[in-house]
Parts: sequence; structure tokens; C-alpha cells
Amino acid sequence: MEIDSQDPDVLIVGAGPTGLIMACQLLKLGVRFRIIDKLKDRIHESRAFAIQSRSMEIFQNLGLSAEVIKLARCGVDFAFFINGKKQIEIKLTEFPDFHTPFPSVYFLPQNELERILIQFLEKKGGYIEREKELLLFSQNNKEIEAVIKNKHTETIENIHCAYLIGCDGAHSTVRHKLDLPFEGASYKQSFILADASVSWPFPENKFLLFLNKQGIFAHIPLTKIFSLIILAPRASANEKLSTPTLIDIENIAQRVTKKPIKLTKLIWLVRFHLHHRSVQAYRRERVFLAGDAAHIHSPVGGQGMNTGIQDVSNLAWKLAIVIKNGGPDILLDTYNTERLRIGNILLKTTDRFFYFITTKNFFIAQLRNWLLPKLLALFFSKKNMARHLLRFISQLYIHYHSNQFVYEISKGADSAFKKGPQAGYRAPDAPLNSSTLFSLFSAKPFHLLIFQSKKSTINSAHLKFIENTYIDWIHIHRFTPSLNNKTLFQRYGVTASALYIIRPDGYIGFRLYGHNLSLADNYLRKLFEKTASN
Ligand SMILES: Cc1cc2nc3c(=O)[nH]c(=O)nc-3n(C[C@H](O)[C@H](O)[C@H](O)COP(=O)(O)OP(=O)(O)OC[C@H]3O[C@@H](n4cnc5c(N)ncnc54)[C@H](O)[C@@H]3O)c2cc1C
Repeated sequence: MEIDSQDPDVLIVGAGPTGLIMACQLLKLGVRFRIIDKLKDRIHESRAFAIQSRSMEIFQNLGLSAEVIKLARCGVDFAFFINGKKQIEIKLTEFPDFHTPFPSVYFLPQNELERILIQFLEKKGGYIEREKELLLFSQNNKEIEAVIKNKHTETIENIHCAYLIGCDGAHSTVRHKLDLPFEGASYKQSFILADASVSWPFPENKFLLFLNKQGIFAHIPLTKIFSLIILAPRASANEKLSTPTLIDIENIAQRVTKKPIKLTKLIWLVRFHLHHRSVQAYRRERVFLAGDAAHIHSPVGGQGMNTGIQDVSNLAWKLAIVIKNGGPDILLDTYNTERLRIGNILLKTTDRFFYFITTKNFFIAQLRNWLLPKLLALFFSKKNMARHLLRFISQLYIHYHSNQFVYEISKGADSAFKKGPQAGYRAPDAPLNSSTLFSLFSAKPFHLLIFQSKKSTINSAHLKFIENTYIDWIHIHRFTPSLNNKTLFQRYGVTASALYIIRPDGYIGFRLYGHNLSLADNYLRKLFEKTASN
């Protein structure tokens, strides 16, 4: 069946943070989409609370970071206590040389972030179709047919589209209908989360984590309210869990922190179980999974929501090339290879850490309580170890392996270039005259950075050709060494000439030692090569 012009190219199922970022990205890239959510309204409680640097860079590219910074708490200190005794305190802003405009963890409740994203989307002419639930779908080699229930009118609508993106959370209908196993397990412990104001003898603007044999207590400083997470005593997976009262929480918190605590202005109180699970394929022909629909982990390190944001930022531009330019279908496969690997690494890391922190195994817990203070002292006394921790949580050092769309040509390169950021790594920011490199990145999706030595010459006819061929896609920036861009040359490891192509998600797709434009052109041809109708 031909796709009706009223039908979208992409149907996004789910308007949580993952679906909303997907919608913002597709809107920016000029791809026709519809976004549906079965709920009548957005959420109004905190849930995820940490926005990492890498997500902020994506927000900057979309034009959203200023709004987030206005509302978020940043410059927060993190302190860790065992048996009521402070072990360590670090600044979550001490990102040594990460070359990012956002050297902090930004504390903002998920509901506030969703509000910002929805407002942004609506301002740009997008909107969320609410109370519309995906019931089922089928696909063939030309299209998807999705069956949607309008919960308000109790009617059924069939939507035809080229691609369907399941951003529909942990209980994903899309994943179920694809029959993809969600491998992993549930953690035995139950947690309580409360959004409330707290009175106690600790400062209100610190992220505090307390650990003892009674459990865990975390205080997360948000903007107007404070979020608290408490590890409740062990409950079996099928035990019916009662909802605690504020007094229950105060009691548990007091036992873990060894300090008096008073909670007021309760906004939300919930008890829940956590899980660590993942699918082993993020793509099935025309259907993609992203965010919690594809992977769920413990909140350790505040990675979950941020990982969903990275998933769709990886996918959106690939879909845009295929849909708008007839680009190669195998480009879409790289969404699976690139993101599945990252998802699995994250899952393993957060799982190990979570187990270590929360274990009730007597011997391991004893060892942990004895060993952890020593390890932490060692860890943070060495600056580069703290750096590793911040590298991990910031998500700035996630990188993709080489594939046919991620490679470099570095024959004869000097050591500076070899040490520079490689293809598959995130492009670093650098100061320029009166602005920064990243501030030049929002006008077009791709960026060709041409670093020239004063002596080198560029074939300007060829450059014009590239500019005209990819006029909607690529912004070309030329740099010759000067005092203003000295740091830029250093950060990209350039002492003479080099070319870098930065993808729309901020990763280096291609780099070349030298300035042979034909090699950059070859890369672009492969990426934008028109293939048989998708
Ligand atoms: C206590 C706690 C703390 C956390 N802290 C952090 C943190 O600090 N940092 C972090 O990064 N992450 C954190 N997370 C994880 C984070 O909340 C999730 O990763 C995030 O909400 C996932 O976003 P999503 O858009 O993928 O899915 P969701 O937010 O679950 O959104 C899915 C949407 O799909 C809709 N939907 C579902 N099925 C259908 C259907 N059939 N048809 C139409 N619509 C449908 C739902 O209504 C929902 O709106 C935390 C989680 C918890 C529980």
C-alpha cells in the first residue's frame, strides 16, 4: 500500500523523555512524525533527577540548554557516609579537562524536564496526541500499519508510516509485539521514593548518600522540592508491598543517617522494585526500540533517562538521511550496533555497583563496610580516579567502534593527531574568538571542520561542490592557526592540516590527517548514497 501523504514518516510511541527528544530531533531535521501517548497528561513527579553533561550538549544543540540551566541545580557537592560517618565529599563540577560547556551534573526533576521539552515542541509546531494507545502493529518491506486506540473517543485509528519507534517505557507494547525477550532480573530490594521538603542538620543543597546495615538513604537536592530515596528492608519479589507513611520514612532515614529528620510538604510517595534488563536487538526491520523500552537499570549514577536521550539522538539523524535523502538502509543498522553495545556496558557497570552497595549478603556487606572507606580514600586521593568516576557518569567518553560510517585515515599522522579525538569519539568543544565551537553547531546537522596550516591550499572548486551537494546537511568551517583558535587546534590534535566530520549527535564520523577533500567526499557519498526505495 502507498503511504498516504497525511501519514507520518515516523510514528513515535511514548512521550516520556526518550520520545520527546526523538520528536524534538525529528522536528529539527524536518522529518514528518506523529507522537502518541496513552496518558492524558505528562507526569508530575520527580523520577529521574540527574541530567548529565552529554545530554546537556544535546540540549544545547536543540536550543534547550539555557532553559534547563535556568531551572536546574548545578554546582552540587556529593558526600558519602558509612555508619553515619562522612567518608568523602566531592564537587560534581570538578570535570578536569572534559572540554564541555557543561561541567556539572544538573539536578532537575524529570517532570520539569518533560515540561520544558513539551513547551519547546509546541512552540516549534509539534504536538503530542494524548490518550492514544498503540494496541498492535504489523510491518512489511514497505511500511508499518499501527492500530491505535483513542481512549477519549473509544475509536480505533490505523496509522501507516515508514518507521515506528518504541519509546514506550519499561512495559513497552512495541517490544512485546516484537516478541523480543527482555533479559535480566529484578532486584530483591524494594525502594521508597518521596518528593518532600526535609528538615535535618544537613545542608539542603548537597547530594548525600548514607549507607549502613539498615539500608541506604539518599538525599537529592532538586529545585523547589527535595527527592529522597530510601532502601527499605528486603521484601520478596511477589510480596504485596504496603505504601509507607511519612513517619515510616522518617524512622528508616533516622536509622540509616543517625540524625533526626522531619519531612513536610509531601508531593509524592511511592514504593517500587528496580530491574536490570535489556533486549539484545534494538531494531527489527522498520521498528526500533529506545530508552526504557530497550533497557532498564538501577538509578546508580543517574544514567537511565540520559541513555534514552543518547539512543534517540543516535537514531534520529540516521532516519532523516534515509527518509529525506534515500540514504542506505544499513546506516539504520548502526543504531543497533552502536547503541546496544553501550546499553550492555552501562547495564553491567550499574548492576555491579548497585549489587555492591545494596547487598544484604552478610560477608560481602561486612567486607564492603570495612573496605569501602579505604577504597574511597584511595580513590579520591588520586585525582585521576575521581576523574574516572566523573567520566563515567557524564557520558562524555562513550564512544562507538569503527564501522562503514565511522572511520579515519591517519596514514603518516604525527603523534599529536594520533592522540587527538578519534573517529567514533565525541567531538570536544573549544573556545573561539568570541564564542565556542559548539555554538556553531546548531545551524546544520553535520559539520566539516577544515584545519589548514598557513601554507596548505584547499581545492576550492571541490569544496564548493561539497557545499552545494550537501547544502541542507553540512556546515563547513575553515580554521587557520591564530591566537584565538590555538586551543581548538590542540584539542583536535592538529599541528598542520586535518579534516573532521562531526555527526549531528556530536560524534566524529570521519577524520583525516591532511586535507585531501576527495577522501572526505568519499565518506559523505557513502553516507548519503541513494539506494533503492526504502
Ligand atoms: C527512582 C528512580 C530514579 C531515577 N533516577 C534517574 C536519574 O537520576 N537519571 C536518569 O537518567 N534516569 C533515572 N531514572 C530512570 C528514568 O526515570 C527512566 O529511564 C526514564 O523515565 C525513561 O524514559 P522513557 O521515555 O524511555 O520511558 P518512560 O518515561 O517510561 O515513558 C514511556 C511513555 O510511553 C507511554 N506508553 C507506554 N505504552 C504505550 C502505548 N502502548 N501507547 C502509547 N503510549 C504508551 C507511557 O504512557 C509513557 O508516557 C530513575 C528511575 C527511577 C524509578
